[in-house]
Formats: sequence, structure tokens, C-alpha cells
Amino acid sequence: MLRSVILAASRSSQVERLVATAPYTRDVVRRFVAGAATDDALRATRGLVDDGLAVTLDHLGEDTVRPEQATATRDEYLKLLKMLGGAGLTPAAEVSVKLSALGQMFDEQLAYDNARAICAAADAAGTTVTLDMEDHTTTDSTLEVLSRLRKDFPSTGAVLQAYLRRTESDCRELSSAGSRVRLCKGAYKEPESVAYQSAREVDKSYVRCMNILMSGDGYPMLATHDPRMIAIGEDRARWFDRGPERFEFQMLYGIRPEEQARLASEGYTVRTYVPYGDEWYGYLMRRLAERPANLVFFGRALISKK
Ligand SMILES: Cc1cc2nc3c(=O)[nH]c(=O)nc-3n(C[C@H](O)[C@H](O)[C@H](O)COP(=O)(O)OP(=O)(O)OC[C@H]3O[C@@H](n4cnc5c(N)ncnc54)[C@H](O)[C@@H]3O)c2cc1C
Repeated sequence: MLRSVILAASRSSQVERLVATAPYTRDVVRRFVAGAATDDALRATRGLVDDGLAVTLDHLGEDTVRPEQATATRDEYLKLLKMLGGAGLTPAAEVSVKLSALGQMFDEQLAYDNARAICAAADAAGTTVTLDMEDHTTTDSTLEVLSRLRKDFPSTGAVLQAYLRRTESDCRELSSAGSRVRLCKGAYKEPESVAYQSAREVDKSYVRCMNILMSGDGYPMLATHDPRMIAIGEDRARWFDRGPERFEFQMLYGIRPEEQARLASEGYTVRTYVPYGDEWYGYLMRRLAERPANLVFFGRALISKK
């Protein structure tokens, strides 16, 4: 219930104004977002790589409605990739891209062209791109763009969301050799017709999908902070004899950093998803919806506005 309310608020410009102007918001944002500028992203990446972690960088922004915004997002990724390559941070650091930030909502071909330019820049810098997955209305379009991109850039990564009923079948489709697939639970508000609603059902689906990916021929990327899912992932890695070069764990910047360090120290590949940029609102609200404990910060922000 609380999750649904917060996810609904994540699409409200009125609530966004209220949250953005509240005094404590900056503290909450700093916890989950590396900073506003490209240099902030590079600094955070350097720190994580020095600590033995891999990184995927996300320039915040989504649901773009104007071609100029989509082009500006593309250009930011091109700049970022050049800087990452120049700083010797590739291939440890790759990028994560939302097609809706590249124009998917109004022109799928434009989103493809922009994503293709980013894949070419990543390739030139010696690294890869993963296409984030957004709400279920975009799944078919995103998988279609992915399959076009993979013709020229076969290492382009996909994201599949265990809460969607279709995902087991998508995992089977995408578990072939060379296919990089990030498996997450899913962060959007979805109707019962397409998505499991209870945490128990989502967890069971996550394990079924993990079994398909870990027993397949691709490169699974297990994105979760859930101790039970992580333990099952460790178990499947032993069972299917997958060493650190054949799968990875992924977690978000600022969430369970001690667990990220523990897994890395045990020899696993661990990738931290690092968001940066000004447009943090939708991202922050999804993080709050996942963990009611974070609402304590949020509540303080709103109360101190008065
Ligand atoms: C690298 C990465 C990339 C992602 N990309 C996408 C994407 O492209 N599309 C998409 O829809 N979603 C994406 N997500 C978000 C994902 O779908 C989930 O919404 C999010 O990860 C929460 O699910 P969970 O598996 O971590 O566990 P949850 O079900 O949220 O929590 C399970 C348990 O994990 C532990 N836990 C969770 N959060 C915390 C915390 N903050 N502090 C301490 N313990 C915690 C607690 O023990 C909790 O009970 C991504 C997540 C990650 C990690």
C-alpha cells in the first residue's frame, strides 16, 4: 500500500516540487546519488574501483518528451565514456542507459539511434552498455531495440524483472552464449494482469529466473540486496561451477556497501550501480518505495519544510 502511494507520487510534479525544495532532501539524495556533475561520477567510480568493485554508471533522467533532451542525454554519455576511457576506468566501469531518456516515448527509432551511438562510444572506450528496464509498457520495445543493438554490439546487456509474469520465458530467450542479463525484482507499480503482487511470489519468480540464467550459457548479473537471493546466488554459482568471470552480483550505490565489500573480498565480481545528475526525483522515490526505513529521512525533509 505504502509502496503504491510512493510510486504514484514518483510521477507527480506537485510532490516533486515539494520534495525538491525541502531542506533535508539534499542529504537523502547524497546517500543514493554520486553527485550532479560528470566529475562527481568519475570520482565515485575511482573510489569504488580502487576498492575492488566494478561499476555501472547511470546518468539520471527518464520519460524524456523532447528530441533535444534525448540528444543532450546521448551527448552526456558520449562525454562520460570518453572520460572513463581516458582515466583508465574501463572496462571496470560500464554504463546503464534508460531508453525513455533517449526518446523511446515518442520515437523508438531516435532512441535506437541514440543508444547505438552510446554503444559505439562504449566499444571505442573498451567497455559495455546495459539497457535498464522500465515499466511493462516498454518491455517489448526495449527488447526489440536490444536485439537490434546486439547485431553490432553483442555484449549489450539486458535487464529482466522477476515481478513480470513473462520474465521466465524472456530468461530462456536471453540465456544463450554471450548474452549479458541483469536480473532484478522490478521497481515500478505494475498491474496484477502482468506482474506478481506479493513479495513471496516475486521472490519465487526471482529464484526460478536465476536458475534458468545460472544454468544457461549467458552471463548472469544478479542485481539484488536481498540476503536470501544473494545466498541462493552463491549456492547456484557453486552448483553450476561459475567463477567470478562467468557471473556477477550487482547492487545500488549507497545500499548495503558492507555486503558489496564482503562479496568482493570473497572473490566474487560485484558491480555497483552509480547514478549521477540532476534528475534524481524518480530514482529517489523508487528507492524510498523499496525500503520504508528510508522514509524517516523523507518525513524529516517534509516536516522541516513547514
Ligand atoms: C544494480 C541494480 C540495477 C537495477 N536496475 C533496475 C532496472 O533496470 N529496472 C528495474 O525495474 N529495477 C531495477 N533495479 C531495482 C530492483 O528492481 C529492485 O527494485 C531493488 O533492487 C529492490 O529489490 P531487492 O532485490 O534489492 O530486495 P527487496 O525485495 O527490496 O528487499 C529484500 C531484502 O533485501 C534487504 N534490503 C533491501 N534494501 C535494503 C537496504 N536499502 N538496506 C539494507 N537492506 C536492504 C533487506 O533485507 C530486505 O528485506 C535495480 C537494482 C539493482 C541492485
